[in-house]
Amino acid sequence: MQIADLEKLRAIKNLIIDMDGVLYRGLEPLPGGREFLSYLRSEGVPFILGTNNSTLTPRQYVAKLEAMDIQITEEHILTSGQATALYLAQIASPPANVYAIGEEGLISALEEQGFVLAGQDVDFVVVGMDRQLTYEKLKIASLAIRAGATFIGTNPDTTLPTEEGLLPGNGASLAALEAATGVSPVVIGKPQPTLLRLAMERMKATPDTTAIIGDRLETDILGGKNLGLTTILVLTGISHREELGTSAYQPDLVFDDIGRFHEAWRGERSRRTSC
Ligand SMILES: [Mg+2]
Repeated sequence: MQIADLEKLRAIKNLIIDMDGVLYRGLEPLPGGREFLSYLRSEGVPFILGTNNSTLTPRQYVAKLEAMDIQITEEHILTSGQATALYLAQIASPPANVYAIGEEGLISALEEQGFVLAGQDVDFVVVGMDRQLTYEKLKIASLAIRAGATFIGTNPDTTLPTEEGLLPGNGASLAALEAATGVSPVVIGKPQPTLLRLAMERMKATPDTTAIIGDRLETDILGGKNLGLTTILVLTGISHREELGTSAYQPDLVFDDIGRFHEAWRGERSRRTSC
């Protein structure tokens, strides 16, 4: 490692960590994830597990990680569904009427912020991943956007990696509505800044001491770069080493997996405290 890289490692005091492709893939834990999170907790390092996935609630994420023997609490989770509801609460005063396409994670986050979910006369159309998406839902959303409702998307991921292959992600639903209405959505998740800003706010962190660890160049790494965070790519998910040569989004540091990052960063942290 170069001296400049070690300096970058040393500056990191707060972490935003992507989950899928970093801590686990599907239901399989990835090497070093559990040890890393238990280190963060024992050292009291502020961290947020920030995901573009809006389908699950924080409680469901805690249970999912618990099943992999990874212990965290709900305040460590920030989904794009929660970030969307928090953003809406900042720009609108509940009870505003919202038409929402999405699953439990998004719907419960909107309800928690006091929004009224409705099909007509809505101020906002909020669209997240919905595996029960129908023409009827697209119709209602489309008419509402044409009638002047603000169009908001939880996350722009066009694909969803699964055991079956790449399935349509929320970006595909947003594209359908964009084609139908001529209106582009305000997007909350990575690489847009809102989710990452909310994560930093929760940690009371600033960009110069915050790093994002992710597996996807065009969301995690680009999003981090847009806000001036230290960007760390791990190669256990979507983006591979070969893409780095041609990608417009170059991470500050690259590790084979989160365990290797943990090793390097822990080494630098202990050197800092011993000198
Ligand atoms: Mg990921």
